[in-house]
Amino acid sequence: MLSAPERSGRQFRIIPNIDRQPGGLYYSCWMGDIEKQRSDDRLTQRLTTSGFRFTPQRQHVYAVLLQKRDHPTAEEVFIRAKRAMPEISMATVYNCLDALVRSGLARQVTVERGAARFCPNMQEHCHFYCDNCASVFDIALPPDNGLPLPRGFRAERFDVTIHGRCPACSNSSISKRHKSRH
Ligand SMILES: [Zn+2]
Ligand SMILES: [Zn+2]
Repeated sequence: MLSAPERSGRQFRIIPNIDRQPGGLYYSCWMGDIEKQRSDDRLTQRLTTSGFRFTPQRQHVYAVLLQKRDHPTAEEVFIRAKRAMPEISMATVYNCLDALVRSGLARQVTVERGAARFCPNMQEHCHFYCDNCASVFDIALPPDNGLPLPRGFRAERFDVTIHGRCPACSNSSISKRHKSRH
């Protein structure tokens, strides 16, 4: 998946928005029926082992999270979920997100003051927050989770946010602070 220089380098690496890996847990709209079935089985398994039922709403909210990995807020998930499932309520979306987080299928991310966002990438990673357009990107940790820690400290979970400007905003001289997200 990675080229050799990327794999051996110590630099942070951006994680592509969509994981196209066949059979991977994350599926997107162009996934084949067999792969989708496999992911649905995995979703069912994770939900039930955490004491939740598989419901079409939970499946749909999960698919919404996987389709566009831009770390939407619950409200944004609701707006997207309604497109294909107009009868879904905000309360149901909250319930679905809660079930997904508790089942280890998504994580809640707080990068700035304001509403929590949701991320279906369960690999350890950090986030890049663009202070100009408020976009959030997944950034891979350096190889071997290589953040130097003092002797005796052991990392178990990462909650790192880098602030700055995304490539689109670095290249543009116009400041459109928090107006649009690309
Ligand atoms: Zn930006
Ligand atoms: Zn993330």
